[in-house]
Amino acid sequence: MSESTPTVKKRHQVVVIGSGFGGLTAAQKLKHADVDVTLISRTTTHLFQPLLYQVATGILSEGEIAPTTRLILRKHENVKVLLGDVEAIDLAAGTVTSKLMTMETVIPFDSLIVAAGAQQSYFGNDHFATFAPGMKTIDDALELRGRILGAFEAAEVTTDPAERDRRLTFVVIGAGPTGVELAGQIAELANLTLAGAFRTIKPSDCRVILMDAAPAVLPPMGAKLGTKAQQRLESMGVEVQLNAMVTNVDYQGISIKEKDGTERRIECACKVWSAGVQASPLGKLIAEQTDGTVTDRAGRVVVEPDLTVKGYPYVFVVGDLMAVPGVPGMAQGAIQGAKYATTAIKRSLSGQDDPATRTPFKYFDKGSMATVSRFDAVAKVGKIEMAGFLAWLAWLFLHLVYLVGYKNRFSTVITWVFTFTSSSRGQMAITSQMIYARLAMERLQTAQREALAANEAAARQKQPDSA
Ligand SMILES: Cc1cc2nc3c(=O)[nH]c(=O)nc-3n(C[C@H](O)[C@H](O)[C@H](O)COP(=O)(O)OP(=O)(O)OC[C@H]3O[C@@H](n4cnc5c(N)ncnc54)[C@H](O)[C@@H]3O)c2cc1C
Repeated sequence: MSESTPTVKKRHQVVVIGSGFGGLTAAQKLKHADVDVTLISRTTTHLFQPLLYQVATGILSEGEIAPTTRLILRKHENVKVLLGDVEAIDLAAGTVTSKLMTMETVIPFDSLIVAAGAQQSYFGNDHFATFAPGMKTIDDALELRGRILGAFEAAEVTTDPAERDRRLTFVVIGAGPTGVELAGQIAELANLTLAGAFRTIKPSDCRVILMDAAPAVLPPMGAKLGTKAQQRLESMGVEVQLNAMVTNVDYQGISIKEKDGTERRIECACKVWSAGVQASPLGKLIAEQTDGTVTDRAGRVVVEPDLTVKGYPYVFVVGDLMAVPGVPGMAQGAIQGAKYATTAIKRSLSGQDDPATRTPFKYFDKGSMATVSRFDAVAKVGKIEMAGFLAWLAWLFLHLVYLVGYKNRFSTVITWVFTFTSSSRGQMAITSQMIYARLAMERLQTAQREALAANEAAARQKQPDSA
């Protein structure tokens, strides 16, 4: 190379896994940094999970809570968005491998931010998922909408009274914020929106049951707010069953074991699981490559005080995938974690970052809230506890602030005004695909896997003996 040949400086490569609260914030915060960012996600959208229950119960459309990541980041010229499922991360080589259909992409990184979140956990009973979907994705919410509204339709058609009762029994398992919000919305749907729309059944005759193995509703929000939420739900006709452990879920209904050991059954067509979470398997994949970083029982990575893993000061794990004492699995944990990681990366570019002396990540608790019904919510911000209309206004305001995109905010406000001032809901369409597609795809994938295994076995048999 001649002395005058200019050397091209390779830009610092940042790979971000996930397009949820953590991943999107990370990509946005690196907008003006001298880096190339590749954001890989298995979904094309940034999903606002806190409003999934409104998609499931016909209030909002999926587009309103899940704008396209690529379009949000259109003006972030240093960010490339890739659709793909991350299947491998090689910390020593500094590469991430993702797959889209049969196409494999290997992306090198100097810094890595892993924000792959968590999935529903059935505590080792994964077969429950067939009959009791969780609520983590748009697919889940649309499937639930199909199941909830489909149950009323089937109840109208059947002539068997026992089957009608079964169709009109809805059980939500897990009395955390998601369970409370969903149970409240199913009751409101039955009592208000569907009133007078059927000829054989009276939708308000349905049973909505909110069930939990724990002794309280909304345990993290404290006894006072939990009791308030429970009383409000009961006034809407929701049956709250606590200390009740679900031992089996099948097509016909669920089996329950009480605290005193007695067992009972509830025959119910529509079951929803909102009882637990399990971190993305990518957490374990990363921890296994380090000298001492471990995962906790929920699969979350027990990160260092600077959200990195041992021996890799530029591999950050943020959001629901990180285990940091005192940081709940909430949007703020992911947003603040992503901001912390990107600040460290940006400081490193100007030589100001020394991993050994980084100030540890500090979480600022902005509170938590849950809506119980229209105009009614519970909220906890520090020591302040609120319930009722004021808490609902706070919920309304905060959700609008954190929804991404002006157009989405605008259309959501219009939809909410329409929904909250009338008994109508604008997203009541259901299709067969919503209800049956997941199971059909599972069957297809199983058949494909079996065919592939059979082909491989046949090929092995044909190979001449090399011995
Ligand atoms: C129903 C529901 C209601 C909630 N309500 C609230 C609330 O009211 N307030 C609150 O603060 N929090 C709430 N939360 C929690 C909040 O949504 C999460 O804490 C937050 O989304 C975590 O952000 P994250 O970026 O870590 O993960 P997520 O937002 O879950 O994003 C994970 C991303 O990783 C991608 N991904 C996962 N695995 C892979 C892979 N192998 N390859 C490629 N991409 C992958 C996913 O597609 C997704 O884009 C709620 C959650 C749910 C499910």
